[in-house]
Amino acid sequence: MVDRKTREWRRTIEVTGLGHLRGIGPENERKLVAAGIDSLASLARLAGDAAAARVVVDRTGFPHQRVLRWANDAGALSGQALERRRPTKPEYFMNLAMEVRTRANCTGRKVGAVLIKDDRIVSTGYNGTPGTMTNCADGGCYRCAHPEEFSAGQGYDVCICVHAEQNALLAAARFGIAVEGCALYSTLQPCFGCLKEALQARVMKVVYLRQWRAPQELRQQYGELVQALGPGNFDEFAIDDPDEAWATGKAPALVRTTGHTL
Ligand SMILES: [Zn+2]
Ligand SMILES: [Zn+2]
Repeated sequence: MVDRKTREWRRTIEVTGLGHLRGIGPENERKLVAAGIDSLASLARLAGDAAAARVVVDRTGFPHQRVLRWANDAGALSGQALERRRPTKPEYFMNLAMEVRTRANCTGRKVGAVLIKDDRIVSTGYNGTPGTMTNCADGGCYRCAHPEEFSAGQGYDVCICVHAEQNALLAAARFGIAVEGCALYSTLQPCFGCLKEALQARVMKVVYLRQWRAPQELRQQYGELVQALGPGNFDEFAIDDPDEAWATGKAPALVRTTGHTL
């Protein structure tokens, strides 16, 4: 039995264009309503009230950024001017890596990477075939087009898609930008090739959004690369990723509701 507040909430979502909130499921709807978020106005208020947003995050278990995004969308829809939370530096860099990822062209995972020096972005890269060649999505890479012929995580040496991290390093080389001492932010944990190249280029720190698992028999070797970076220089940094399903090849890209086109 759906209670009155949830019914009203659903009607509000139906008529306002916050259609993406319809897909969160009845259980999550109940959590929102129980946390006092049963109207657009109450959702919109959160964007300008960090403490209230935090309470909702604690009560519902939803990621903070997701709650704020919904709140911002609701505010935009009801014409209110809302304050945005200033992201921390790691959030800012990882958000940039996710934005870079939107240009990825590979039938496998979509990845974006940025190189950061002294808190400035000095290079970017996303994965795909070399710029002068047919895109991966158009059949430009044999390995990506025939995944059944290669076991997972193997055969990267014959894949002509350049990885995001490699592209960030190569763009820096092309434009004569020193990368020694940089931090590398990537939306995926680097593979062997990217990690050894980052290490050899004297990248100081690697931060990634989502885990990539080295094949079991090679985990120790991978761990040695991580150790060579030095303690505390290899971190997972998980933040909300609305395009996760697309980036991992499980769904088409989200239709963005922020109003800007890519
Ligand atoms: Zn590819
Ligand atoms: Zn790689």
